[in-house]
Amino acid sequence: MPTFPTPRHALNRTLIGSLWAALMVLMLAGKASAFDTVILDPGHGAHDRGAAIGYVYEKHLALDTARRVEQLLRKEGLKVIMSRSRDVFIPLQDRSALGNSRGNAIFVSIHYNYNRGGSGSGVETYYHFSSSYMLAAYIQAYLVQRTAMTNRGVKSANFHVIRATTKNPAVLVECGFVSNSTERSHMLTGEFRAKIAEGIAQGIVAFRKSK
Ligand SMILES: [Zn+2]
Repeated sequence: MPTFPTPRHALNRTLIGSLWAALMVLMLAGKASAFDTVILDPGHGAHDRGAAIGYVYEKHLALDTARRVEQLLRKEGLKVIMSRSRDVFIPLQDRSALGNSRGNAIFVSIHYNYNRGGSGSGVETYYHFSSSYMLAAYIQAYLVQRTAMTNRGVKSANFHVIRATTKNPAVLVECGFVSNSTERSHMLTGEFRAKIAEGIAQGIVAFRKSK
């Protein structure tokens, strides 16, 4: 009877040990890489009004909401970069370039929705890459909880800003329908936009703590 050692088992044990070590390194790296910067992207601007009913323009609602999110996140000690802080036009390529401009960041684009006929209602959050899914899920959950609006869910989409922002998790939030008369009357009040901003900010903070 040959009495060779059992190389296969020895190899397996070594392999398992290596894989375990690699996993620990990845977990620690994940903790270390929790983002410290939030790039906020209020949709549209200037001649690009976005969804519009009468004098209610998406570009104004998105900017006001993003500014509120900005203040809340700064209070949490996060760095915030805005793609626009005024009523100016920013090409989509510039927005995604900003989204890729630094590491340790996330990218959150803020929009309001529109559909013909005005029957659409509720909030939804979009992602493109699966690596952005959890960020979308956290924001959507807290947004629904804070506003009690209809939950349209987390959805994948091919929008430029979330497709071309490849360096960081990137999502696009639709904060309700300008075309829906009930939601429009709500979103015209600062109190309601404050709730939307709180939902988005709380989702971002909770996502960060989950890292
Ligand atoms: Zn929009």
